[in-house]
Amino acid sequence: MSRSEELFERALRVIPGGVNSPVRAFRAVGGTPRFIARGEGAYVEDVDGHRYVDFVQSWGALLFGHARTEIVDAAVTAAERGTSFGAPTEAEVLLAERIAGMVPSIEQVRLVSSGTEACMSAIRLARGATGRSKVVKFEGCYHGHADGLLAKAGSGVATFGLPGSAGVTGGAAGDTIVLAYNDREAVRDVLRAIGDEVAAVILEPVAANMGVVLPEAGFLEGVRAVTAEHGALLIFDEVITGFRLARGGAQERFGITPDLTTLGKVMGGGFPCAAFGGRADLMQHLAPVGPVYQAGTLSGNPVAVAAGLAALDLIDREDPYEGLLDRSARLAGGLGEAFESAGIAAAIPRSESLFSVFFAAGPIRTYDQARAADHERFARFFHAMLDRGIFLPPSGYEAWFLSAAHGDAEIDRTIQAAAEAARELG
Ligand code: PMP
Repeated sequence: MSRSEELFERALRVIPGGVNSPVRAFRAVGGTPRFIARGEGAYVEDVDGHRYVDFVQSWGALLFGHARTEIVDAAVTAAERGTSFGAPTEAEVLLAERIAGMVPSIEQVRLVSSGTEACMSAIRLARGATGRSKVVKFEGCYHGHADGLLAKAGSGVATFGLPGSAGVTGGAAGDTIVLAYNDREAVRDVLRAIGDEVAAVILEPVAANMGVVLPEAGFLEGVRAVTAEHGALLIFDEVITGFRLARGGAQERFGITPDLTTLGKVMGGGFPCAAFGGRADLMQHLAPVGPVYQAGTLSGNPVAVAAGLAALDLIDREDPYEGLLDRSARLAGGLGEAFESAGIAAAIPRSESLFSVFFAAGPIRTYDQARAADHERFARFFHAMLDRGIFLPPSGYEAWFLSAAHGDAEIDRTIQAAAEAARELG
């Protein structure tokens, strides 16, 4: 029995499903999850001493790879001065200034500890600011696990084929309207019919929780125009795309200005740190200025904030985007060729360095099409890659995450492994 198997057995006794977040359990791909002992750059090593090129990268939180020295040093230095105060610190001001300077639509920002909290709070703020109750979301988009946002959600909810979640009351989800991604006519129709009841439309500007699904030309522009027309707020969930597609996220990349933005992952440098922000007039509805309550014991935690600042510093110093783009284009291209020469139909939608692999013939533009892909083949591909030392996200509904630490050697190795795996699957 491997050490991972041994630990998983023990974990199953004391942790539901053996994991603290469902997709980690490998249920979608089968087998025993690898317990990770350490990570360095593009690599992770499991407790049995196997090394893998890691494309999970903490689900996109690690833009600079594992244990990047500057980020670790910043966190250690901060921790030595105290790990949490529950009082304001200078570093929070620096991080807020930095975010406001980088993300085009953000004038003010509130720090929280997870993407879930960021989205939940942004929705509350939107309702409080507009005095309206309904929220429009899109099938296959994931905005964390707050009750009202779990309807037809992506990520683990998609991986496990759930329509929503048990434990969410009709009351909690009853104000959520779910539409198909890329269907801008549907958004227009809903807003024409009940626009004065809609507080916000929330979306991932590049959907990355049903696999990667790109916004079609005109979709984001159309939603921006129609929300503005009806006084509904547009919330960009940039928890994944923020600081990844570009320095200023998807809103900079596509040149569209949302009213509110949620952020997480990269901005915490691998620590629990997330945020929501937007125009000052909207953010002023938050307590203690306004009546929309929102709070957190560990919000703006000094260790997480120091790590986040170090990550954003690295962005400004190293401008990693061109390199990420080049290497992900080469990787996606190499994967495409590997599948093609093995006679396997595959679609690899990509926006900058964000992409995923669907075993399907046609382009993927909706959640239904993402679901119709061959996820059983993905499971076999996942294991064929794992056997060759490549750690992919253990679900076809998740994006692959490249970091600045993935160099040409790792890309070549991954393409080589994929060519062998594809022949094996063929
Ligand atoms: N929004 C998006 C787009 C996400 O991808 C995620 C998590 N993967 C969340 C929100 C929730 O973030 P967290 O897991 O930090 O709560």
